[in-house]
Amino acid sequence: MITRRSFLKSSGALVAAGSVSTRAAQGQHIVVVGAGVFGGWTALSLLRKGARVTLVDAWGPGHARASSGGETRVIRASYGDQKIYVELVARALELWRDNEKRWNKKLLFQCGSLRLRKDASYAKSAVPLLEGAGLKIEELTPSEAGKRFPQINMDGVGWALYEHDAGYLLARRACQAVLESFIAEGGTYRQLAVKPIDLEVGLPEGLFLSDGTYQLADQYVFACGPWLGKLFPETIGERIRPNRQEVFFFGTPAGDARFGETEMPCFLDGAVSPSFYGIPGNEWRGFKIAGGTPNAPTFDPTNGDRSATPDLVAAARRYMEMRFPALKGAPLVGTKVCQYESSLDGDFIVDQHPKADHVWILGGGSGHGFKHGPAFGERVASQILGERNKDALFSLSRFA
Ligand SMILES: Cc1cc2nc3c(=O)[nH]c(=O)nc-3n(C[C@H](O)[C@H](O)[C@H](O)COP(=O)(O)OP(=O)(O)OC[C@H]3O[C@@H](n4cnc5c(N)ncnc54)[C@H](O)[C@@H]3O)c2cc1C
Repeated sequence: MITRRSFLKSSGALVAAGSVSTRAAQGQHIVVVGAGVFGGWTALSLLRKGARVTLVDAWGPGHARASSGGETRVIRASYGDQKIYVELVARALELWRDNEKRWNKKLLFQCGSLRLRKDASYAKSAVPLLEGAGLKIEELTPSEAGKRFPQINMDGVGWALYEHDAGYLLARRACQAVLESFIAEGGTYRQLAVKPIDLEVGLPEGLFLSDGTYQLADQYVFACGPWLGKLFPETIGERIRPNRQEVFFFGTPAGDARFGETEMPCFLDGAVSPSFYGIPGNEWRGFKIAGGTPNAPTFDPTNGDRSATPDLVAAARRYMEMRFPALKGAPLVGTKVCQYESSLDGDFIVDQHPKADHVWILGGGSGHGFKHGPAFGERVASQILGERNKDALFSLSRFA
């Protein structure tokens, strides 16, 4: 009997799937699974480097269950002493701008960001890295910050950092723009689910898809966000934990520009515990406030209930009314429940499968991955094509 495996073997397809001795982009077919911010930008970068790329997603770019869904994400470069992320953000800012021009689409709103802390201890490690990356920043005393942004009450703040280049990105729209560009530039997109068959043994027969077909390639890249642990129970398992995050949108007074992006930056408030962050303007959806959940419960990204929790709404309101007194009594105009896909240490995962080096796993955005999208894609595409070494910080072996 001729099985699919013996047919593939005699036709040479299995050999191609398992042996990537030369990784030159030209002539290589790479399948990327996941059209969120990590997979979309990686697929586009591989394509622009000359590979033949197929992008597969079960539900589409930035859909309502994806970690890349929703309207907006903060982009800021302050990352304490973590140089790799500062450099990634600096490069991402360039690439977001370049691609905005290329697509004639506005996705990046550079309204700045304001990091609030109880004291200046954060400055010691963060400031030299930001300056080294050529980013424009200002350290502010609470009274300077309060004068510049009188709509913010600076109680409890001992030090503030203003990042001029920072701001926010449109999230779902950016993922959609990446897919549109990917298709226009010659990539193939298939909206199908990959079945969890043979993933931990290197896909000897290719990917099994939800329409009953299968897909062979030279390399396979899995950028499946919060679904990675289920798809790779041995290699990832609980090393990536999807956890519940709630986002709240409050209505600002009619005609009042103080809480829009023309008069206010994004904010990251570490002067309170737990910390909160937020985005003004926010594509007209309302004044966005999130955070306040250091021990967020594990969440099922496919079937989890996405209704807001009254206690967390109340905590966000208490925070908002303390920090933005003019918003006292502001109506809650929307909520969103999303999930972080947190790695054990908060750092990304970018590595080859330990048993199959033609299988790559990308994820662990851990609540801070979105902003890096284009720089992440560019860097990872170079690694997949063998042009650049992998980053030890993102390796799977760090969990051994
Ligand atoms: C509420 C919230 C706020 C955040 N705020 C910020 C912020 O301000 N700044 C910032 O930089 N980052 C932020 N992040 C983090 C950032 O958004 C995520 O780290 C990032 O979007 C993760 O992208 P991803 O591509 O890894 O995952 P996803 O966007 O989840 O994409 C994974 C894709 O894989 C697909 N997939 C999964 N399984 C399969 C399968 N079997 N077959 C086919 N397709 C499959 C899914 O459909 C999905 O589209 C935030 C995240 C959340 C949830």
